[in-house]
Amino acid sequence: MKAITVVPGKAGSASLEHFDEPAETEGSVLVETVAVGICGTDAEIASGAYGWAPEGHERLVLGHESIGRVLEAPTGSELSAGDYVVGIVRRPDPVPCYNCAAGEWDFCRNGRYTEHGIKSLDGFMRERYRAEPDALVKVDSGLGELGVLLEPTSVVAKAWEQAERVGSRATWHPKTAVITGAGPIGLLAALIGLQKGLEVHVFDQMEEGLKPDLVRELGGTYHTGPIEKAVEAPDVIIECTGVPSLVFDAIEHVGSGGVVCLTGVSPTGRNLAIDAGLVNRSMVLANEAVVGSVNANRRHYEAAAAALAAAERSWLAKLVTRKVPIDDFADALEHQPQDVKVVLQVATG
Ligand code: BGC
Repeated sequence: MKAITVVPGKAGSASLEHFDEPAETEGSVLVETVAVGICGTDAEIASGAYGWAPEGHERLVLGHESIGRVLEAPTGSELSAGDYVVGIVRRPDPVPCYNCAAGEWDFCRNGRYTEHGIKSLDGFMRERYRAEPDALVKVDSGLGELGVLLEPTSVVAKAWEQAERVGSRATWHPKTAVITGAGPIGLLAALIGLQKGLEVHVFDQMEEGLKPDLVRELGGTYHTGPIEKAVEAPDVIIECTGVPSLVFDAIEHVGSGGVVCLTGVSPTGRNLAIDAGLVNRSMVLANEAVVGSVNANRRHYEAAAAALAAAERSWLAKLVTRKVPIDDFADALEHQPQDVKVVLQVATG
């Protein structure tokens, strides 16, 4: 079968390969991959800057944002042939640490977790894969292929959960949220914020085009320029760019008792001049919290599935700006300025 693989650490090594059918030992459910979303992490892996092949292998099958259809499932499982499913990206470490043992692999303590398409586990850019039922999330059939948005939504569902858990350390009635970045993560974070009844402000650089339109269609307010010029003292900021200056802009401008949740993985080696004393002083005097958030556990996938089920299908469909056939994977990995979510089409829906 066809698969897109890379040699982690080697730029430009992504290629379309013939790959073995998944072994039965990989799981009792056989899934046909329909589509795989592409994100910044895939681009980073393809550039040689991130990613690990499975032990004893040179190549890693890329892809972690998947939607597939069950071909075979064991009787007695909650899955049956034809169901749309998403593979959970991260799997618990083998020890397991106490978080992984409790199903909170997104908080793995020893770093020995694995991630499909990223860290030591083959990903979903292949025509078929196998998994155990507990590593799959069933998606509402009405959502169909748009279930490809479930994994990135799970990441922001976790970010929102973190913000709420930290915020509710005191009586908390948040009203205003700022989202930095109107890429898929930012837009999906805005969707959840609006579903929670907050006033949502999204910041990005694009002056016009699809991103501002998508924010307005949701009922959010779109801005370019600095946070402090547009929104006073937001209760929550979900930072979705990883751009160091925006991270500090967020920390500086969150409201008293507010929470900044950081979700963007930034490149290292960029230095910024900041008034560290001022940052510390204002965080202490205003009880501000900054929390990092990565990955998602099953609870977040389920929250994400509920958020997508409650969203307008036509709005979700507009997030997918390019669908690229698997044979043209190189085009899919090449970022274009108007892209929101690019999807690699592995099988027809
Ligand atoms: C994925 C997460 C993963 C993270 C770090 C992100 O792109 O969506 O599931 O944990 O990368 O590897």
